[in-house]
Amino acid sequence: MFYQQQFDVIVVGGGHAGTEAALAAARMGSKTLLLTHNVETLGQMSCNPAIGGIGKGHLVKEIDALGGSMAKAIDKGGIQFRTLNSSKGPAVRATRAQADRSLYRSAIRDIVEHQDNLTLFQQSCDDLIVENDQVTGVVTQMGLKFRAKSVVITVGTFLGGTIHIGMENYKGGRAGDPPSIALADRLRALPFRVSRLKTGTPARLDARTLDYSVMQEQLGDSPTPVFSFMGKREDHPRQIACYITHTNSKTHDIIRGGLDRSPMYTGVIEGIGPRYCPSIEDKINRFADKDSHQIFVEPEGLNSIEVYPNGISTSLPFDVQFELVRSIKGFENAHIIRPGYAIEYDFFDPRDLKQTLETKFIKGLFFAGQINGTTGYEEAGAQGLIAGANASLQCQGKDPLILRRDEAYMGVLIDDLATMGTKEPYRMFTSRAEYRLLLREDNADIRLTAKGHELGLVDEQRWQAFNIKLEAIELERQRLRDTWVHPKHAAAEALNPLLKNALSKENTLEDLIRRPEMTYETLMKLTDFGPGIADPKAAEQVEIQIKYAGYIERQQDEIAKSRKNENTLIPIDFDYSQISGLSNEVVAKLSDAKPETLGLASRISGITPAAISLLLVYLKKHG
Ligand code: FAD
Repeated sequence: MFYQQQFDVIVVGGGHAGTEAALAAARMGSKTLLLTHNVETLGQMSCNPAIGGIGKGHLVKEIDALGGSMAKAIDKGGIQFRTLNSSKGPAVRATRAQADRSLYRSAIRDIVEHQDNLTLFQQSCDDLIVENDQVTGVVTQMGLKFRAKSVVITVGTFLGGTIHIGMENYKGGRAGDPPSIALADRLRALPFRVSRLKTGTPARLDARTLDYSVMQEQLGDSPTPVFSFMGKREDHPRQIACYITHTNSKTHDIIRGGLDRSPMYTGVIEGIGPRYCPSIEDKINRFADKDSHQIFVEPEGLNSIEVYPNGISTSLPFDVQFELVRSIKGFENAHIIRPGYAIEYDFFDPRDLKQTLETKFIKGLFFAGQINGTTGYEEAGAQGLIAGANASLQCQGKDPLILRRDEAYMGVLIDDLATMGTKEPYRMFTSRAEYRLLLREDNADIRLTAKGHELGLVDEQRWQAFNIKLEAIELERQRLRDTWVHPKHAAAEALNPLLKNALSKENTLEDLIRRPEMTYETLMKLTDFGPGIADPKAAEQVEIQIKYAGYIERQQDEIAKSRKNENTLIPIDFDYSQISGLSNEVVAKLSDAKPETLGLASRISGITPAAISLLLVYLKKHG
C-alpha cells in the first residue's frame, strides 16, 4: 500500500545524521518524513555521553552556525563543559561537554517534534523503490510504501550489525536495538563498494559501587563555556564533576590472559576498528611498554546510576571484563550494569558519493553518517545536515550546497571521504584541515551563517542576533583603528609598564592590541579607552581578527592561488586513458574515484601535480 502523502525528502534513521538531515530539509521548506526504528531513540548516543572535543567541537559549532540542533541540545543536556587547549592558539581551542544522555535525547526530540514540515513515522525501512536509476521511495517492514523525490539513508552501525562479546556473537544494530538486515541486503545489491568496519564500547558501571574517594576529581571550566551561538549559560542543567583513575599492570595481565578468547585477536572480527578510539586490548597490545592507561569516569546523567568508564572499551568475554574492571583503583567492588561489546557493520565506500553526499549511481539517494565510514556523533551530524540540505535543494531544482575545505571542517570531512575514501573509521582532527587558522570554532558563524540564511537553514532570530554581533565587531574595529594614543597621552603612563617597549610614537589602539603582551580586555580596562564591546563573543572576535591578521591574510592568499583551477569540472564518465603521458596507475586511480573537479582530482593520493597539469591542459583544449 502507498501512503497517501508524497514527500520531498525521506530520511531513514533518527540518529545524529538523521535528525540533522530531516531538520535541515524541513527548515528549507521541503515536506520531509523521518522514518526510524523507534521514536524513543531519536538522538540516542550509542557510545560515550559527550559532545565535542578537538576537531569535533568545530563541527558542532558549524552545524549550529547553519541552524542545526546539536549545540542547542547539548546546551540543554550538558552536565560538564570544558574548553580544551585553552592555553593554545584559537585555531585548536575546542569545546567539549559531558552529556546527560536522557536530557540530550529529550532536547533533540523536542526540536524534531516542533519543526514545521517534518513528519515522524516509526517503522523499519526494509527496501528502496528505484526506477531507472532514480530513487522514488521506500518500503517499510510492514509493506507500507512512501514516495519521495529523494531519500537520505542514515542508518549508523545497523546495516548487517553483529555484536561481539568474547566468542559469542549475535545480530544487533547496537545493544538493545535490532539490526537492519533487509535494507543491508537491498543496498548490497546496488552497484556500490561495500565493506565492514568495527567499533566498540566499554561496560557501564553502577556508580553506587565505585569508590570515588581514591579517584582524582575533574571539574568543568568556570565560567562554563556555551556551545550554541544562540545559547545561554542559564540553559545548562546542574553541573557536576567527572573523575579519573587508571589501569595497572594487574589489569594488563588479566587482559593478556583473555586474548585467546578475544574476537579481535582470534580473527572472528574482520572489520577494522577506530585507530584513535581503540579498545583496551588493542591499547595494551600496541603500547606494550605502558603499564597504565587513563580512564575518565563519566556520569551518564544527573539522575542515572550508570557510569561510563571512558578508555576501557572492550569486546573481551564477560568474565574477563569483570576481572579487569575490578582490578582498577576505585572499581574494586564495581557492578557491571551493561557489558562492553564490539559491533561490526556494513559501510559504503564514500568515494561512490558526490560532494553533495548523493550517491554517484542512484539519483536522489543520499548517504550520511556512520554508513559512510565515519565514527562519532559530530561527524554524523555534519554529514546529515549537508545531505538533508542537498536532498532538499535537489527537489527544489536549486544549486547544491558544497562547502570548500577553506570554508568549513564540514567541507574537509566530506572532501576527504569523497576523494580519498577510508579504510578505518574516520574521525575529525584539526590536523586534517590545511587552513586551520581560518576554520576556528569561534568564527563558525561568520563563516557560515549568511550562507545558511540564504538557503533557509537559519531562522530570523539567529540572523538578527548574528547581524547585531557583526555590526558591533565592525564598529569596534573602526574605533580601534581611529583612536590614537600619543606618548604624552595621560593613559600612556598607565600603559607603559604593561608594554615591553614603552610608547615612543603615536599608536592606534589596534596597534597596541597587536602587541603580544597586550590584550583587548586589558586595554579596555584602562581609562579613556574602555569599556569596549559588552558581548564577550564579539570582543573575542575583535581581538583574534587583530592579533592574527597577518597569518589570516597569508592563508587567504594561498587559498586564492589554489582555487584558480580548483573548480574546473571533469565529466563523470571522462576517459582518462585518452590523455597521453598519464601512467596506468594514475588512469586507474582517477577512473576509480571519478572526481568531479580538478581540485578533487588533485587530492587523491598518488595523483601528482604533473598529472593534474596534463589533465588541466587536456580539459582546456577539449573542454
Ligand atoms: P546512529 O546514531 O547509529 O543512528 C542510526 C539510526 O538509524 C538509529 O536511530 C536506528 O534506529 C535507525 N535505523 C537503522 N536502520 C534503520 C532502518 N532500516 N529503518 C529505520 N531506521 C533505522 N563514536 C565515537 O566517536 N567514538 C566511539 O568510541 C564510538 N563507539 C561506538 C561503539 C558502539 C558499540 C556503537 C554502536 C557506536 C559507537 N560510536 C562511537 C559511534 C557513534 O555512535 C556513531 O558514530 C553515531 O551514532 C553515528 O550516527 P548515525 O546517525 O550515523 O547513526
